[in-house]
Amino acid sequence: MGLKSKVLIVGGTGYIGKRLVKASLGHGHETYVLQRRDIGLDIEKVQMLLSFKKQGARLVIGSFDDHRSLVDAVKQVDVVICAISGSHIRSHQILLQLKLVEAIKEAGNVKRFIPSEFGTDPSRMAHAMEPGRETFDDKMIVRKAIEDAGIPFTYISANCYAGYFVGGLCQCGHILPPRDSVVLFGDGNQKSIFVEEDDIATYTIKTIDDPRTLNKTVYIRPPANIFSQREIVEIWEKLIGKQLVKTSLSEKEFLDIIKDKGYADQVGMIHFYHIFYEGCLANFEIGDDDEEACALYPDVEYIKVEDYLKQYL
Ligand code: NDP
Repeated sequence: MGLKSKVLIVGGTGYIGKRLVKASLGHGHETYVLQRRDIGLDIEKVQMLLSFKKQGARLVIGSFDDHRSLVDAVKQVDVVICAISGSHIRSHQILLQLKLVEAIKEAGNVKRFIPSEFGTDPSRMAHAMEPGRETFDDKMIVRKAIEDAGIPFTYISANCYAGYFVGGLCQCGHILPPRDSVVLFGDGNQKSIFVEEDDIATYTIKTIDDPRTLNKTVYIRPPANIFSQREIVEIWEKLIGKQLVKTSLSEKEFLDIIKDKGYADQVGMIHFYHIFYEGCLANFEIGDDDEEACALYPDVEYIKVEDYLKQYL
C-alpha cells in the first residue's frame, strides 16, 4: 500500500467535521485539525479539540482572518477537507471557503481538496427556487474558484444525512420519529437517498488517495437506502408495530407555508421541497464522468435505514 496522505480538516468540531476527524484517524492518516483562534470561550469545542489530540490528531492554530496562518496550515498536509457550516446566512460559507481556496492556491502543495458540500449536487440545482438556490449557487462559485486555481479536487454528494432526515421520517422540523401521526410530502412517493453520517465520513476519507476520484464528483448512493418518505414511514411502522395516521401536504400547501417563514427556514424548506416533491436526489443516473461511493468501496458495510431507525425504539 502507498503512503497515506496527511490530512487537514477545517471545521473539525462540526457535525460532519468531527466524524471526518475520526474516520481520518481510523484510516491511519496523519490528521491535522484547524483550531481557530476565534473559538473564544466555547468550552465544548476546546474539549473536543483536546480529545482529538488525545486520539492522535495534531491541532494547527489559525484563523480565517489570517491568510498566512491558513497557508502555513495547508503547507503541512497533502489533503484538505473543508467541513464548515452550511450556514444559511448568505455569503458566510462562501467567503470562508474562498479564503481557504486562496490559501491552498498559494501553498501549492495540496494533492486533493474536498470542499464543504456533502449534500445535493449543486451543479444539478441551477433551477432551484430562491432563496434555497443561493446555497447551491455559492457552492458553485467555490467550485469555479477551485477549478480556476487548478486545485485537484473531489466533490462529495452525500444526499440526506440520516440524522436530519430519517430520524424525523423526513418531516421538516422533526428529528425524532413520531408514534401517532406523520405528514407526507404530497403522495410521499418521491425517492430519496439516506446516508448515515459516519458512513459519509468513511467514504469521504476513502476517496482522498484514490486516483479514480480525482477531479470528480463522488455520489454516496447506498443501493439499500433509496426510499420514498412513505417507505421510510412503513419501515418505522413495522418496527413499532403500529400504523401512523397519515396526512398529506400538497405541493401548493407546502409552498404557501414557506412564504410566511423567515429567510433561514425558507432556505431549508426549499431544499426539502426539491428533495421530496421533485425527487432531485434520485431522479438522474450517475454519468460515466463521475463515481458512486458504494460501487468504488464495496467493502464498507454501510448502515441501513431500518437499523438506523431501530436506535429510536
Ligand atoms: P456545522 O454547522 O456543524 O459547522 C461546522 C463547522 O463550521 C464548525 O464546527 C466551525 O468550525 C465552522 N464554522 C461555523 N461558523 C463559523 C465561522 N463563523 N467562522 C469560521 N468557521 C465557522 O456544519 P455541518 O456539519 O452541519 O455542515 C457541513 C456541510 O454539510 C455543509 O456544507 C452543509 O451544507 C452540509 N450539510 C448537509 C446535510 C445533508 O443532509 N446532506 C445536512 C447538514 C449539512 P470549527 O470546528 O473550526 O469551529
